[in-house]
Amino acid sequence: MVKHAKMPRNDAGIHTALGILKQRFGTQCQTGHAVCEQHGHTTTWLENQPPDAVVFAQTSQEVSDIVKVCAEHRVPVIAYGTGTSLEGHVNAPAGGVCVDLSQMDKVLAVNAGDLDCRVQPGVTREDLNTHLRDKGLFFPIDPGANASLGGMAATNASGTNAVRYGTMKDNVLSLEAVMADGRIIRTGGRARKTSAGYDMTRLLVGSEGTLCIITEITLRLQGIPEAISSARCSFPTVESACQTVMSVIQYGLPVARIELLDEVMVRASNAYSNLGLPETPLLLLEFHGTEASVVEQAEIFGALSDDFGGTGYAATTTTEERNKLWKARHDAYWAMLQYRPGATGIATDACVPISRLADCVTQAQARAQELGLIAPIVGHAGDGNFHVTPLVDMADADEVARAAGFVAWLNDLALSMDGTCTGEHGIGQGKMPYLVQEMGEATDFMADIKAALDPKGILNPGKITS
Ligand SMILES: Cc1cc2nc3c(=O)[nH]c(=O)nc-3n(C[C@H](O)[C@H](O)[C@H](O)COP(=O)(O)OP(=O)(O)OC[C@H]3O[C@@H](n4cnc5c(N)ncnc54)[C@H](O)[C@@H]3O)c2cc1C
Repeated sequence: MVKHAKMPRNDAGIHTALGILKQRFGTQCQTGHAVCEQHGHTTTWLENQPPDAVVFAQTSQEVSDIVKVCAEHRVPVIAYGTGTSLEGHVNAPAGGVCVDLSQMDKVLAVNAGDLDCRVQPGVTREDLNTHLRDKGLFFPIDPGANASLGGMAATNASGTNAVRYGTMKDNVLSLEAVMADGRIIRTGGRARKTSAGYDMTRLLVGSEGTLCIITEITLRLQGIPEAISSARCSFPTVESACQTVMSVIQYGLPVARIELLDEVMVRASNAYSNLGLPETPLLLLEFHGTEASVVEQAEIFGALSDDFGGTGYAATTTTEERNKLWKARHDAYWAMLQYRPGATGIATDACVPISRLADCVTQAQARAQELGLIAPIVGHAGDGNFHVTPLVDMADADEVARAAGFVAWLNDLALSMDGTCTGEHGIGQGKMPYLVQEMGEATDFMADIKAALDPKGILNPGKITS
């Protein structure tokens, strides 16, 4: 594991706060080694840094009470959804109290006529969609893991549908949040637009538990389209696949999903999900609209892909076939891990303007090969966002060093193309050095905002700026 700096612990404060929390919360407050370790980070190559206790909160008032105790004794508080973040986000480098929100899992209201809903933070995206299905509605943001909506808001997550429906920032209407002194605030209502003062909603979305703990979320919903069709198309090189994506976006074709898998990723998915696809770079697509418009979109895509050597273009007609392909896409991470058993996948998350996508992905693939890394590529290509994931034997110091060098090189490349080091995963611990490189002096103002909203520095310390 890669070690990340520990921070000074406030042992006396932690001891006192734990005594109060145990008395107040009984069995909801757990201090066992296994539960604490499980709430330190799991899906990352960063070292596990467990909290001292995990409190399973059930109401907003309980979250507020926990934060007030921790504020009084200057003890770190780390919010936890489902722990699928990838940059050490839920690690506790100074110890402290993890607030697990998974038991706050109620869908509080669905306003079908207004296409919105209000949920507690522990509702997962799959649970919400199961709840909505018989109402003809869906929530489009779909990270590759079945994450909590609180965690997704906190990381400004997105997924395969972002090219059409945007990211969490575009789909959160307002929040209820517990601030660093324990006060509970609302950042707005259900109006589709507002000019009421500073945009607190969008400040808190993406703040990774460093400015508040989100206790309710009001979300935009979408009607399930009249027609959905999926398609796949193979390409001779990742460059030709990316050039096709660029021309689709520049044409203005309103694809709902356009995902890239390189040849290594297709091989891994074939093995894991039994797909039987040609083992060359692949685009997976989905079109949403009326019966007529999805046919038209599919035809236009076919013509565009011909220009770049696309072959085997096939629409998936049955729901079963479509679900199988998209399930395989969502299982890509697990397919990679099985492709090199025992290896750790090192997530990268570069995102560049669409006109630079082909150049960036092609260079990244060549560089990984030069370094002798097995590094499948999968990505939300329509947003210019892709994940090269070196599969690394963590016992091999030389390979770890090559992978670390690759990650740094890729982030530099994305920044040199006016892109970002993280399109969707966030900063956590792992990307902190790149944030400074990407944002320069703007990082100082982020630190000022943090100091103003959390003057004691108790909310998820050691992440983003401090
Ligand atoms: C296989 C796999 C695929 C993935 N694919 C994608 C993808 O396509 N797109 C994408 O965006 N991400 C992806 N991720 C990353 C991850 O799923 C997202 O970052 C997700 O939003 C994290 O949600 P979570 O509930 O697991 O949050 P956690 O990991 O529990 O927490 C994440 C951060 O949010 C904070 N937090 C959690 N809940 C709250 C709350 N209620 N209030 C305030 N702060 C809170 C935590 O303190 C932490 O800093 C993937 C991860 C995996 C393992």
